[in-house]
Amino acid sequence: MSPDLSGAERRIFAAAAEAIIGEPVGDDVVDAALPFIRGLPAADRALLGLLLRMLEYGAPLRTGRRLTRQSRDRRERYLRGWERSRLALRRQGLASLKALAALAYYGRDAAWGEVGYDGPWLGRVDVAVLAAPDLAAGVVRGRELRSDLRLRAQACVIGTGAGGAAALARLAERGIDVVAVEAGGHFTAADFTQRELDMLPRLFQGAGLRATSDKAIAILQGAGLGGSTLHNTGLVCPTPPGIAGRWRSEHGFPLEGMVLDRYLAEAMDALHAVPIPPERVNPSNEALRRGAQALGWQHRIALHNRSECCGCGYCMLGCAYNRKHNAALTFLPRAVAAGARILADARALRIEGRAGARRVVCELMDGNGQPTGQRATIEAPLVLVAAGALDTPALLRRSGLGNGRVGHGLRLHPSAVVAAVFTRNVEAWRGLPQAVLVEEFAQFLERSDGRGGFLIIAAAAWPGMTAALVPGIGAPHRALMREYPRFASAAVLVHDETAGRVDVARDGRPIARYWPGREDREELRRGVHALARLYLAAGAQRVHLPYADAPPVRTEAELDSALAQARAAPHRLSLSSVHPQGTCPLGARRHKSAVDPHGALWGERGIFVCDTSVFPTSVGVPPQVTTMAVAAATADYSVDERQ
Ligand SMILES: Cc1cc2nc3c(=O)[nH]c(=O)nc-3n(C[C@H](O)[C@H](O)[C@H](O)COP(=O)(O)OP(=O)(O)OC[C@H]3O[C@@H](n4cnc5c(N)ncnc54)[C@H](O)[C@@H]3O)c2cc1C
Ligand code: SF4
Repeated sequence: MSPDLSGAERRIFAAAAEAIIGEPVGDDVVDAALPFIRGLPAADRALLGLLLRMLEYGAPLRTGRRLTRQSRDRRERYLRGWERSRLALRRQGLASLKALAALAYYGRDAAWGEVGYDGPWLGRVDVAVLAAPDLAAGVVRGRELRSDLRLRAQACVIGTGAGGAAALARLAERGIDVVAVEAGGHFTAADFTQRELDMLPRLFQGAGLRATSDKAIAILQGAGLGGSTLHNTGLVCPTPPGIAGRWRSEHGFPLEGMVLDRYLAEAMDALHAVPIPPERVNPSNEALRRGAQALGWQHRIALHNRSECCGCGYCMLGCAYNRKHNAALTFLPRAVAAGARILADARALRIEGRAGARRVVCELMDGNGQPTGQRATIEAPLVLVAAGALDTPALLRRSGLGNGRVGHGLRLHPSAVVAAVFTRNVEAWRGLPQAVLVEEFAQFLERSDGRGGFLIIAAAAWPGMTAALVPGIGAPHRALMREYPRFASAAVLVHDETAGRVDVARDGRPIARYWPGREDREELRRGVHALARLYLAAGAQRVHLPYADAPPVRTEAELDSALAQARAAPHRLSLSSVHPQGTCPLGARRHKSAVDPHGALWGERGIFVCDTSVFPTSVGVPPQVTTMAVAAATADYSVDERQ
C-alpha cells in the first residue's frame, strides 16, 4: 500500500478531521498529515486505510449516509459515538485519527492566529547560535552512500542516544577502535525549525506516533545522533538511592557507594548539569510551585543541562541555538576526538556470527527514513546494543539472541496529563518547559526499598501536541483550543510496578504491550486527584482531567465526584510515556533476567546491552543520567573483561 493517501482516502480523512477539529479542513491540512502517515509502519498504514473505509461505508448503517456526504454537525455526532463506544477498537480508531488531525491542523502556521500562539522565534527573534564541536570528521551519512559499506573494528555500538553515546565515548577514550551505527540522521542546530510539522517526523520514532499495540499509550522516543537526548527537556536527576539499593539487593546491580557516585558525577559533568535559576521558572511551572506551596507540599526546582539558555521553549523539537548539552554535543564529539567512527542513517537489522566474530548488518536510510537499498556491515568481536527500550529487545529477538527474558519487564512511567485553564495568559510554550518537580507523593525517593509513588512535572505545550491531548472532539474541543494561551498542563508520572513486554512483529518492528495494572491505575487516579487539587489551589478557573468521561471541574467537590465515576480503561484514560525502560532487565539470576549485572547478554559472549532496557525496575525519575552512568560502567566492564 502506498504511504500516501489515495484521492478517496484524502476526502474521508478531511471529512473526519473537520468533525474532530470543528473547523473547515482543506488540502493543506491533509498534506500536513502526510509526513506523519509516511512515518507509520506498513501495518499501521494499512489499518489507517481500513479505518477510513469503515468510517465512510459504516456511516450509512447508523446515519443513512456516507461520512463524506453528511453535514459537519452530523459527522461530529457520529464520531462522538465512536469516541464513547463500548468497543475499544472504535475508541482506538478515533484516538488515532484525532492525533493525526490535531497535529496536522494545529501544526500549521495558518492555525496559530486562531489559538493565540505567536509561533517560532527563528526569523523574528535574534538569538545567536553558539559554536558547537564539529562531528563531521567522524560521521558518515548513510543517505549519501551509493554502494554497500563494510567496516572492521574492535567494537560496534548500536544506537547513539543516552546509553550508546556514553558507551561510545568511554570505549574510544580507552583506546578501543569502535564504530557506532545510528538509525536516525545527523542533525545540527540548523536543522531545528521549531515547528512540530517538521521536527516530530524527523526526530521521533514513528514520526511521533509510536504507541503501545492498542494505541492506548503514546510512546515518545528519539531518532538521530544523540537519540532521545536531542529532544528531551533537559532535566538532570541522579538515580535515587532507594532505587539503586533495590537494584543491588534484589537484582545484583554492581554499582554502589562511591563507584556509582563517580559514574553519576561523570555523566552530570559531561552534561554541564547546574541548578535551574529560580527566576527562570516560567508561568506554567510557577503554577505548580504556587499550588504546591499553598498546600504545603514538597517540591523543588530541578537541575538541568543548559547553558546561556534564552528560554525559547523548543527543547523538545531540538535546540536551534546549541544551548542544551545533549549527547550529540557532549559524548559524541569526545568519542570522535578519541577516534570513534559513526555511521548515521544505518538501522541495525540483526547481529550475525558467533562469539569473537560478530557482524552487525544494517540497512541504510534516506532523508525520509526509508531504506535506500544499500547495506552496511560492521565486523567486530564486541557489540554493545543501545537502541532504546523498544528497539533493543526487537533487534536481539530478530537476531535470535538472548534468553526468554529478552523483551519482558517493560516499564513506561505511564503519564496522565491534567490541564488547567487560568484567568490570565500562561503561554506555557515559552521558557524552560520543565523546572519544578513536585515530590510530595514520590515515596520512592525516601524509602530505602525504592517503592511507590509518582512525580508531578509540567508537560510540553505546542498547539498540535496540546490539541492531541485536550479532551473531546468537535465544537467543545475547538472552544477549549481557543483558550490555549491560558492553559497550564502537567503530568503525573507513575513509578510503575506493572511489567509489560515487547514482542516483534512479522516485519521486525517492536510491538509494545502494556496497560497499567490495578495498583498503578490507582496510583494514576491518586496522582490526577492530587494534581487537579494543586491546580485549584494555584487559582485555576477550571481543570480538565485525562478521563474521557470526566467533566471539567471547578471545585474539590466536583473533582471527587468526577473521579468517582471515571473509568481507567484503554482510550478512556489518556496516557503517554517518554521513559520506556526495563525490557532486557539485568539480574544475578539468569532465568529471571536478560543480561547479567554488568549488562552482558546471558549465554552470548561479547554482546552487551547498555541503555534503559537494562533497568530491572522503573527508575522513578527522568532516566538520562542513570542511563549514561550505567552505560559507561558497562563499557568499562566490557573492556576490562577482555584484558
Ligand atoms: C520528550 C522527552 C523528554 C524527555 N525529557 C527527559 C529529561 O528532561 N530528563 C531525562 O533524564 N530524560 C528525559 N527523557 C528520557 C531520556 O531522554 C531517555 O530516557 C534516554 O535518552 C534513553 O536513552 P537510551 O539510550 O535508552 O535511548 P535513546 O536515547 O532513545 O537512544 C536510542 C537510539 O537508538 C537508535 N536506534 C533504534 N533502533 C536502532 C537500530 N535498529 N539500529 C541503530 N540505531 C537504532 C535510535 O534512533 C536512538 O537514537 C525524555 C524523553 C522524551 C521522549
Ligand atoms: S529553551 Fe531549550 S531550545 Fe530554547 S535555548 Fe533553551 S535549551 Fe535551547
